[in-house]
This record gives sequence, C-alpha cells and structure tokens, in this order.
Amino acid sequence: MAVSDHVDLETFIGGVKKRNPGQPEFVQAVQEVAQDVFEFIEDKEQYHSAQILRRIAEPDRVISFRVCWEDDNHNVRVQRGYRIQNNNAIGPYKGGIRFHPSVTESVLKFLAFEQTFKNSLTGLPMGGGKGGANFNPKGKSDAEVMRFCQSFMTELYRHIGPDTDVPAGDIGVGGREIGYMFGQYKRITNRWEGVLTGKGLEYGGSQMRPEATGYGAVYFMENMLKHKKDVIEGKTAVISGSGNVATHAAEQITKQGGKVLTLSDSGGFIHDPDGINQEKIDWIKNLKNVKRGRISEYCDEFKGASYHEGKRPWSVACDLALPCATQNELNEDEAKMLVSNGVIAVSEGANMPTTLEGVHVFHDAKIMYGPGKAANAGGVAVSGLEMSQNAERISWNHARLGEMLTELMEGIHGKCVEYGDQGDGYVDYVKGANIAGFKKVADAMLAYGVV
Ligand code: NDP
Repeated sequence: MAVSDHVDLETFIGGVKKRNPGQPEFVQAVQEVAQDVFEFIEDKEQYHSAQILRRIAEPDRVISFRVCWEDDNHNVRVQRGYRIQNNNAIGPYKGGIRFHPSVTESVLKFLAFEQTFKNSLTGLPMGGGKGGANFNPKGKSDAEVMRFCQSFMTELYRHIGPDTDVPAGDIGVGGREIGYMFGQYKRITNRWEGVLTGKGLEYGGSQMRPEATGYGAVYFMENMLKHKKDVIEGKTAVISGSGNVATHAAEQITKQGGKVLTLSDSGGFIHDPDGINQEKIDWIKNLKNVKRGRISEYCDEFKGASYHEGKRPWSVACDLALPCATQNELNEDEAKMLVSNGVIAVSEGANMPTTLEGVHVFHDAKIMYGPGKAANAGGVAVSGLEMSQNAERISWNHARLGEMLTELMEGIHGKCVEYGDQGDGYVDYVKGANIAGFKKVADAMLAYGVV
C-alpha cells in the first residue's frame, strides 16, 4: 500500500496560495474551512490518503467566456462571464449568478467552494457552483439588461442543464434577470425545463423562494437563541444591505417582534430609531426593485431617520447583527465595536461578510455566530425544492414551503451543534458547519474512488 501524503495545515495553505495567485477571497475561504477539517480528519486516514480536501479545493471546472452586447447608444460593450463548477459529488452543481463590477474568478471560486459545503448542509442532493459577470446592472435600462442577459445565456446554456448545473440569482440578479435568462435558454434549446431557480411564479418558480434566504437567516438566529433559551422578541437588530436578503431578513425580524434599526446600500446606511416596520420595508422593496433608487431616499420619506454616507451600520448599538450585503463588509474593528456595544448574536445572510479576524473576535467573546454557509442556506434549500417541483411538474403552496424551510433551518442548526458543540455550553457554528458539510461530500467522493 502506498504511504499517504500527510501534509500539515500550513503546507496545505501554502500550496493553495501558490496554485491560486492573486485570488485572496478564494484562499480566505479555503483557509477557514481547512482549519476545522484538518482537525476533524487528523485520525481518519481514509480522507487523507484520498486527498479529499485538496480535491474539493480544486474546482471541477472553471469556465470563462466573453459576453458582447450593445448598449442603448449602439456602443459595443464587452464583459467577462464565468461559471465555476466546483463539486458535483452529491448532486448537480447549484449556486447563484452574480452581476457586479467586483466579480472576479477569485470571488466566484470562493463562492462556489462555500456553496459546496452549504448545499451539503441542507441535506438535499445539490453540488456546488457559482457564476456571474463583471456587468453592472445599476443605471442600465431594462432593454440593456435584457440584451446582456441574453448574450450571457447564449454561451452559458451549453454548460448547464437540470441534471448538470442549475444556476440561480445572487447580487445584481433578481427576478428580472432570471426571467430574461430563462427565456433565452428556452429559445435556444427549445426545452422548458427547470434549469434556473428563482423563477417567477407564472413560469415554474417556487412560492417562498424570494423570502427564503432572509427568512432562513432569521430562523437560524431564532434557533441559536432558542438553544440558549432566548427569543428574538423585544430585541434590536442591525442589518446591512437593502436587497433581497436584507429586506426579507428585516421582515422576519419584525414578524417575530424584534426592532430593525438599520439597512444600507453601497452608498451608506440609514438609522431609524423608531424601527423599520413592515410598511417601511414594503416602501424599500419598491424603491429597490421597481424604482431602483438609493437607500438615502428613505430619510426624505420617513422623518426621524438619519443617513450616514460612506459608512457601515456596525457602530449602532444592538442585540442582534445580520450582515446581508456582501463579502468582507464587517472587519475586526467593527466586530469589536459590536461586541463592546453588547451584541449577543450574529447571523450572516450574506456570504463571508465577516473577515477571518472579525470571526475570531466573535469567537473570543463567545458571541453566538452563525456563518453564512449555514445561516443563509435557506435560499438554496428552497431552490432545491423548486427543482423537485419542476421535475415533478407540481407546485406546493406557501404554507407548506414555509414549514419545510423552518424544518430545514432547524436541521442545519442541529448539524452545526452536533459537530460544533465545544462541551462548555458554547457552540462553534463555523466548525460545526464546516465538518458536517465536509463529511457528506467527502464520503460520497470516497465511494466513487479516484475520479
Ligand atoms: P441584492 O443585489 O438583492 O442586494 C445586495 C445589497 O448589498 C444591495 O443593497 C447592495 O447595495 C449591497 N451591496 C452590494 N455590494 C456592496 C458593497 N460592496 N458594499 C456595500 N453594500 C453592497 O443581493 P442579495 O440580497 O441577493 O445578496 C446579498 C448577499 O446575500 C450576497 O452576499 C449574496 O451572495 C448572499 N446570498 C444571497 C442569496 C439569495 O438567495 N439571493 C442566497 C444566499 C446568499 P447597492 O444597491 O448599492 O449595490
């Protein structure tokens, strides 16, 4: 029998850095997972000798392509599109599409890697993928967005399929963009099939999908608090972002009797000491999804609120924090500020919004900290249920899907506790999510042999 190649954690990370130059987000994501996985597999020779983590940290496929489109002034524009197919050991690749100027191969590789563990945690048969383009939908007309989406799908369609890879929305990709892309896929292939999730209800979308990520992040928070015999009711919450995830997180906090103090966008944040209630949330949804305006406009509409340009909301004292905008939006100093202002729990609606240093601050202070890969898994979980409904040509009602989402989030929380309970009453949710997510994918890969 061959002697297995046991590298230590430092050598492993050194190799990841060397093989992925100029990809800091990807290295950061692998580093976070590797620490916990190395500890878990220390006495499990089978994972070492099969090089499982090394294989998961090497995407199955990185597809990059040119996307040409014409703007309203007839200028030809050229963007770069991607699809990262990270791992399909437990099901078809699954993960969102992001349209944002900050999209790079590194950002999408980190997201596809994280997605692999997240999807495994849901318990549903979905592998990990992610895609996108460095296209900025902000300030573009509907016709320009449509032409871009059609051009993007004209290449992407050959790499995806309902049993191969099923993309969804993410930053900059909501119902409008999914509609344009699904329409183009259908036109090119002459097939009506569940190749995208997050579709409109008229054409195969699932009830509860728009709400699922934000509601799920709050259900995860609820479960963490419940584990400590506490509740959301009566607590204040600071939320970042004002997109799909943030507005639905705000809605569910409010439904459970909490008070939401802030929301934000890339321009700054608004602070409303009276609380952002359902009427105000509905107004923001319309502002962002229909008028496509800026969060600063909130202060013209609702008196008593203040706008803080160029700032993030973490200086506002609160019991609960929910970062729901983007990656690395909460750093070490901001984490310290939250802790000194008395935060008791953090649930991440966004992917990797807290830097590694910030996560250490929460852990050292024994704050309940639910990482994105567990806390925001509700979105992809309901996407998985949309795939099932499409495959069976049926649709379940809102109440049933709501119950399923609640159960799924409870199950994910339970798995995190199983593998992350430190024995002293503290649950390391990062470790729990990493190990539970890893184990299922790793065992499937072992079953396949070297492929
Ligand atoms: P949206 O595009 O609907 O909203 C994104 C929000 O974040 C906007 O308010 C946007 O402000 C803000 N934002 C984006 N980039 C930055 C930045 N660099 N600095 C400050 N604010 C920023 O996206 P979603 O709500 O769908 O996604 C938010 C996060 O949740 C992402 O991390 C995504 O990966 C994650 N997620 C989303 C899921 C989903 O189902 N949609 C599923 C799981 C995770 P502005 O309008 O100014 O750009």
